Amino acid sequence: NPSSPLLQLQNLQISYGGIQAVKGIDLDLWAGELVCLIGANGAGKTTTLNAIAGVLPIAGGSILYQGDKVNAVPAHKRLRRGVALVPEGRGIFTRLTVEENLRMGAYTRKDKAGIEADLERVYTMLPRVKERLHQVAGTLSGGEQQMVAIGRALLSRPRLLLLDEPSMGLAPLVVEKIFEVVQSVARDGVTILLVEQNANLALEFAQRGYVMESGKITLTGSGGDLLANPKVREAYLGEV
Ligand code: ATP
Repeated sequence: NPSSPLLQLQNLQISYGGIQAVKGIDLDLWAGELVCLIGANGAGKTTTLNAIAGVLPIAGGSILYQGDKVNAVPAHKRLRRGVALVPEGRGIFTRLTVEENLRMGAYTRKDKAGIEADLERVYTMLPRVKERLHQVAGTLSGGEQQMVAIGRALLSRPRLLLLDEPSMGLAPLVVEKIFEVVQSVARDGVTILLVEQNANLALEFAQRGYVMESGKITLTGSGGDLLANPKVREAYLGEV
């Protein structure tokens, strides 16, 4: 139903044991959007993303995907329905080759021709990755590993791509490259929820953003509005 969001979080709550890490958040993501979730360390961004992917159980509220409540749907079934996660730290299989890593992304698929076609698309989008197909992934640079992680997620042919801090630990020039890739994925029609500590860059690229603090959404708006917001500038862009 295109008149409802692709993803909707309603009063979402997530706990680790007795500690509430996400305290009832609401978030809408419409098909085709690139939206970022920013906020300080420990705000609950990764926790939220993991819950959307289904790798972490929720304590309350709901996650609606394509209008259906998926609270209890296991991660591999969400993946099959188009929800792919590029986890914090990338989750590369360091002893496998680049090509083996990419193919792992298609593990829920049986359409061989479609998989080969998607591999070709990824090679076109990521020429650096194509040059290193037979290299063991653990020997790649951080930026190359991030590209492999994104490429692997694309091999599941996602509708919704969840990206957790793709810029982490990378030099500014490499970060620019990664964001160019993210933008070309978005242009391909994939809806993206991007978690970033690099608020400046994320807000520049995203159409909309949500600011998370101590488990709550405290601000939301267009990327431009949030970039111009004095509170955001003070708290996340290092200005006083
Ligand atoms: P970061 O950028 O550091 O990942 P974040 O905004 O993604 O920050 P989360 O990693 O989601 O934040 O953490 C939210 C809260 O939950 C923090 O207080 C954190 O200490 C806690 N937390 C995260 N993972 C666990 C865990 N496995 N067990 C217990 N507490 C956790």
